[in-house]
Amino acid sequence: MSPETTAPHRLLGTLLDEQARPGGPFCPAALRELDQAEAFPARACRVLDEFGLADHYVPAAHGGKLTDFGELIRLVRGVARHDLTVAVAHAKTFLGAVSVWVAGDREQADRLARQVREGHVVSWALTERGHGADLLAGEVTAERTREGWTLNGEKWLINNATRAHQICLLARTGEAGDARGFSLFLVDKDRLPPGGSAHLPKIPTHGIRGADISGIGFTDAAVPASARVGADGAGLEIVLKALQLTRTVCAGLSLGACDHALRLTTAFVRERRLYGKLLVELPRVRRILADAVADLLLMESVSTLAGRAVHALTAEMAVVSAVTKAFVPSTGDAMIAELGEILGVRAFFTDAHAEGAFAKLERDHRITAIFDGSTAVNRHALIKQFPLLARASARGGHAVKGLAAAAALDVPVDPLDPGQLVLAGHGGCSVLGGLPDAVERIRSLVRAGTAPAGFERLAGALLDSAAALQEELAAHRPTAGAGAAADFDLARRYELCFAGACAVHLWVHNESAVGDGSPVWADARWVRACLNRVLRALGEPVDREPDVADALVEELVRTEGRGMTLLSGI
Ligand SMILES: Cc1cc2nc3c(=O)[nH]c(=O)nc-3n(C[C@H](O)[C@H](O)[C@H](O)COP(=O)(O)OP(=O)(O)OC[C@H]3O[C@@H](n4cnc5c(N)ncnc54)[C@H](O)[C@@H]3O)c2cc1C
Repeated sequence: MSPETTAPHRLLGTLLDEQARPGGPFCPAALRELDQAEAFPARACRVLDEFGLADHYVPAAHGGKLTDFGELIRLVRGVARHDLTVAVAHAKTFLGAVSVWVAGDREQADRLARQVREGHVVSWALTERGHGADLLAGEVTAERTREGWTLNGEKWLINNATRAHQICLLARTGEAGDARGFSLFLVDKDRLPPGGSAHLPKIPTHGIRGADISGIGFTDAAVPASARVGADGAGLEIVLKALQLTRTVCAGLSLGACDHALRLTTAFVRERRLYGKLLVELPRVRRILADAVADLLLMESVSTLAGRAVHALTAEMAVVSAVTKAFVPSTGDAMIAELGEILGVRAFFTDAHAEGAFAKLERDHRITAIFDGSTAVNRHALIKQFPLLARASARGGHAVKGLAAAAALDVPVDPLDPGQLVLAGHGGCSVLGGLPDAVERIRSLVRAGTAPAGFERLAGALLDSAAALQEELAAHRPTAGAGAAADFDLARRYELCFAGACAVHLWVHNESAVGDGSPVWADARWVRACLNRVLRALGEPVDREPDVADALVEELVRTEGRGMTLLSGI
């Protein structure tokens, strides 16, 4: 087998397709029944345990198999493609553990690594009933004692709070509202004193109904000194750095749900007849499908580059992760809604068509733009970095080697050095900073006759939009607090330019490595579709390229909705 067919995400994909057969834990009927009963998908999670998915949550430096965040995103995508509830339930352990990979000491990290690989569930408790995104308002306290710490208060709306063996939680150890007044603790639930903690009831939810969304309360719960992760008072900083990694990995949830939506819709348009024609022959349906394909490829471009940027542009992750988490789930929500229109009533059924899978994934996907920082929270995180980004852009230059390493898919990434994570993007954004060079490369390929002329026009238009955006950023005056409403529009445009630039870089750095005959890569189709979509969203006057859109829709139909990935052909 070639290395590509033995890639973990391919092996997992094959396994889950088998497990989705009638009677298997991933079969749509079984997953629907669990959802309707609001029951945890334990059998499906066991399949993932036996596959060793948790090994991929643990960095190789601690004995696991996590060497490439891009591969972790693909693994999460592979699970979410079958069921988002299962993906959220299982991958939560990565979110729970990651702060220890970022800031834990060697012994702590090695111990947790062993436990995760043995199947321990780890939860991440930031939110409280009275405070969501406003982490500085947290009221759970940890008071120092002679032996360690005593916890008091409630963490609520926590994924796997009840099922978890360990909970990584943020608690106040200093003055209320002080950014250095919080510390992080890895709490071993089995070692809490009797009566020191109590689980809170499962909260019924609109989507991911089977997940364990509950909470935990602490009453004078003693934990040892060794439970603290990182330095006293460093809790918030560690969380903000860890979020740069989790927000990037969450992209896999959206990609998988959108794969699923596209597959269900494609199956429908291939067999449904109206007015003597197949649905897929109707021009409006083809247009929606073409836009959905472009959206998915844009989401994949951002996620792919962001996953590799974790290793190659680590110091830029404050920007990259915020853009990724704002762009990918919100684009996925919109794409799913559009596809739902094609399915008509079948998107509304809870079991009469394809086990109600579309309605389920639509409900499930809603959470991806809410948790781990909502779209607004991530746009705000980006807005706060506008002055730094403007200064970096005025300075000029970008991380040429880092960008190449993030974009060239056939080059193995270096191990992540968590010490390189920083809270704000002082170094700017190489994805946008490197756009002029990439567009110049496209122009030279067009001149040489190896890239289509239409591509140059689109890439040039993106460059103009990005330049106009940079000018607006330079003129932008920050407002204190939550940011002006108009800033959020600017952030949205930043995301669109960033997404288009990701597609351009991935094309430029990989086009020569793609074998002949990939219908997605031929004539630069996928990247032209992405740029066309981005430019229209930016309000630029750009003609749709019907030949490009049509070729991609044909490929979508031919592959039964499975072939829409820029990795096809690589
Ligand atoms: C299924 C599920 C699983 C979850 N799992 C976990 C978990 O495992 N661990 C955990 O700690 N939490 C978890 N949460 C909590 C989740 O992360 C919170 O819901 C989230 O922090 C937002 O809190 P909130 O909805 O109470 O909104 P708030 O933070 O109160 O915000 C209210 C509104 O204001 C917007 N807003 C917030 N900040 C800004 C800003 N700066 N600018 C503009 N608008 C803003 C928000 O987008 C939102 O629309 C989970 C929630 C759910 C539903």
